[in-house]
Amino acid sequence: MALVDTLGRPLRNLRVSVTDRCNLRCEYCMPEEEYEWLSRDDLLHFEEISRLVDVFIGLGVDKIRLTGGEPLLRRNLCQLVELLAEKPLRDLALTTNGILLEEFAAPLSRAGLKRLNISLDTLVPDRFMRLTRQNDHGRVMRGIQAASRVFDGTKLDAVIMRGVNDDELEPLLDFAASIRAEVRFIEYMDVGGATHWSSDTVIPRAEMLERLRSRFGVVEAVEDPGSTAPADRFALPDGRVFGVIASTTAPFCRDCDRARITADGLFFTCLYATDGLALRPSLRRGDPDEAIARQIETRWLARADRGAEERVEMRDRSAFVPVSALRADPHLEMHKRGG
Ligand code: SAM
Repeated sequence: MALVDTLGRPLRNLRVSVTDRCNLRCEYCMPEEEYEWLSRDDLLHFEEISRLVDVFIGLGVDKIRLTGGEPLLRRNLCQLVELLAEKPLRDLALTTNGILLEEFAAPLSRAGLKRLNISLDTLVPDRFMRLTRQNDHGRVMRGIQAASRVFDGTKLDAVIMRGVNDDELEPLLDFAASIRAEVRFIEYMDVGGATHWSSDTVIPRAEMLERLRSRFGVVEAVEDPGSTAPADRFALPDGRVFGVIASTTAPFCRDCDRARITADGLFFTCLYATDGLALRPSLRRGDPDEAIARQIETRWLARADRGAEERVEMRDRSAFVPVSALRADPHLEMHKRGG
C-alpha cells in the first residue's frame, strides 16, 4: 500500500541534496555576495544517505535524484552513486550545472547513474558570465558534449527570464536537438534565494508557447498518461519535443510526489515548506530503521503542502522570503534544499 498524504499524493520521488556548495552564483538562485555554508561535520555521510534511501524505498520511493548546490562538488560522489545503483529503483538521476561533467560524465555512467538533467540557460558566453558570475560557459558546453556521449535521455533545463535569455527559446531547441537531448523551459520561480524575483521577469508558459507557435505554426501538447513529471511536454511540427515547467503560473502541486532531504539531513515535503524534519539526530544516535521510517511516515501522512499553488493565489507576489529571513534560516535557500 502506497503511503499517501492528506491530498492523496503518494511518496514516490526523493531529491537528495549532497552539498549546499555551488560553483555558480546564478542571478535567480544565489544573487547575494555572501552565504553561510553547512559545516562539514553536519553533512550526511554516504552510508547515512544510503541507509535513509533504503528507508524511503521501504515507504514507496522508487525514484532518486541527486542534487544540491552543485552535486559534483561533493567529493567521491561516484561512490554514492555506486551504493544507490544497487537498490531497487526505477530511476537514479542527477541534476548538475555541467561545469565538472567533462571529467565526471563517464565515471558517473560507469557507477550506475541512469540519467542527467543539465542546467543550461544560455548559449551566449557573455550572458552566461552575467547570469552566473562565473566565466565557465566553455566548460559547461564541453561537459554537455561529454555527457551526450555516455548518457541517453538527457534533459537540458533552462530558466527563462524576460530581458535576460527569452530570445533563446529557438537556439536552445536547436542545440538540444543537436545532442539528442530534450530541453525544458522553466518559469522563473519565487523560491527561497530568488531575492531579485519579480513577476515582470517571469515569462509565463502561455507566452513561451505563443512565441513558439508564431514561429513554428503549430505546437501540440504531448500526452504522458500517468506522468507526475513537472514538465508538460509539447511537440513542434518537425517532431522535436520540449517541456515547460510552469511552477510559477500553473503549478502541479496536485500531482506532487516529491520529498527532499538536505545535505545535513532535513526532510522537506515542499520546496516552499518552512519547517523541515531533522533526521540526522536519529541516524547518528543509532535509532532503528523502523523508528526513522515512522517519523517520515507521520510527516508524509500529515502533508497538506500546496506551496506553489498558494503562491499563485497571492495578490502582491514578491520574493518568497527576504534576505534577512534567509540569513536567519539558511535552510530556506533553494541551494540548501536542492532544486
Ligand atoms: N547545481 C545544480 C544545477 O545547476 O542544476 C543543481 C541544483 S539547482 C538549485 C537545480 C535547478 O534549480 C536548476 O535547474 C536551476 O536552474 C533551478 N533553479 C534555481 N533557482 C530557480 C528559480 N528561481 N526559478 C526556477 N528554477 C530555479
